[in-house]
Amino acid sequence: MGMTSSATETEPDAEPDSALVTARRQLERAATHVDVEPGVIERLKHPTRVQQVSVPLERDDGSVEVFTGYRAQHDDVRGPYKGGLRYHPEVSAEECTGLSMWMTWKCAVMDLPFGGGKGGIAVDPKALTGEETERLTRRFAEELRDVVGPTTDVPAPDMGTDAQTMAWFMDAYSMQQGETIPGVVTGKPPVIGGSYGREEAPGRSAAIAAREAVRYHDRELAETTVAVQGFGSVGANAARLLEDWGATVVAVSDINGAIYDPDGLETHAIPTHDEEPEAVLEQAAPETLSNGELLTLDVDVLLPAAVGNVITANNADDIRADIVVEGANGPTTFAADAILEEREIPVIPDILANAGGVTVSYFEWLQDINRRQWSLERVNEELEEHVLEAWHDVRAEVDDRGLTWRDAAYVVALSRIAEAKATRGLWP
Ligand code: GLU
Repeated sequence: MGMTSSATETEPDAEPDSALVTARRQLERAATHVDVEPGVIERLKHPTRVQQVSVPLERDDGSVEVFTGYRAQHDDVRGPYKGGLRYHPEVSAEECTGLSMWMTWKCAVMDLPFGGGKGGIAVDPKALTGEETERLTRRFAEELRDVVGPTTDVPAPDMGTDAQTMAWFMDAYSMQQGETIPGVVTGKPPVIGGSYGREEAPGRSAAIAAREAVRYHDRELAETTVAVQGFGSVGANAARLLEDWGATVVAVSDINGAIYDPDGLETHAIPTHDEEPEAVLEQAAPETLSNGELLTLDVDVLLPAAVGNVITANNADDIRADIVVEGANGPTTFAADAILEEREIPVIPDILANAGGVTVSYFEWLQDINRRQWSLERVNEELEEHVLEAWHDVRAEVDDRGLTWRDAAYVVALSRIAEAKATRGLWP
């Protein structure tokens, strides 16, 4: 690959890099493509702050356990920190920091007036009852109360959290503040200030990105086969939309494995993770595959929409898809990215492909501030417009300068952030 000479590259992906290491390397690489002051790049390598809190929980049996929670706030030059809260055993300060950097670029590439944040609790949400999750969330909201707020830092759902989690968070925050403040989080149920279409939005933008990538390569969606890893809110919605638009979705998976039908699956008949968790393998299909096998299927579009670090140096040579569209955050390691670039397999990056989530979060935030609700049609129309504008901005960098899609997206994002930093100046 000959790009850097660090130990991880001589033993590629023996243990995939953390999100922070990957995010910093991507930033350093992108910095070589933009005319940005080194001081700005240096500042962007570091988060403003990472808040760590202890979250005590009384379990249903009366015992008490203490979990560790985080909120990483990366950069707010363009507006309040914005990004999800995840409940997952591997949540750490380092992971949250890397993911918060991606949120900074994601908001900038979509031209949203937000910076980047990410947080969560190191906990296995499957090991908690509903009541325990509610108590944990309310206490977490209280522990983060000083660092979040509708004009400072606005959390949202992420892995292991959902609209109900956001409802509890918003309620706990509002109760303590003494007034109803729906704009403190996004991704809430519509009845309490959530936006229609928010749930589906990351999958919708991934589907739009896949559709545009297919068109860009002079192909028809009707002639396109797609494999989707993960059948949660990103994967299931992307798969269903792509099928509605004429593509043939040949494989989908959940944590237990994949189902495969070369003639196409009926994705609307397969329950999403929300509808019925881990039900993919229970569906009738000619073949079942492992998640690893799904990734190396000979399809037109591969859409990894589950967890990070699934396309690594160990399997990047075996990827047979013509286009990769990143539905998850960080599914491709830095080493794998270089291999795919060498093999001329375009990778539409997460910060563009799944940015529909945070884009509709922005619409939700606007609706909350203005105390009015947009129709689903308006949300989807404005989302489509935003994604297409970002797509065209990124495509221009790809076409004009021969950059990869990831580098091009970083160039668009970094230029906007750097311009904002230069205009505001460094204080004091
Ligand atoms: N967690 C989502 C993401 O990774 C959405 C963040 C948001 O809506 O603020 O993009």
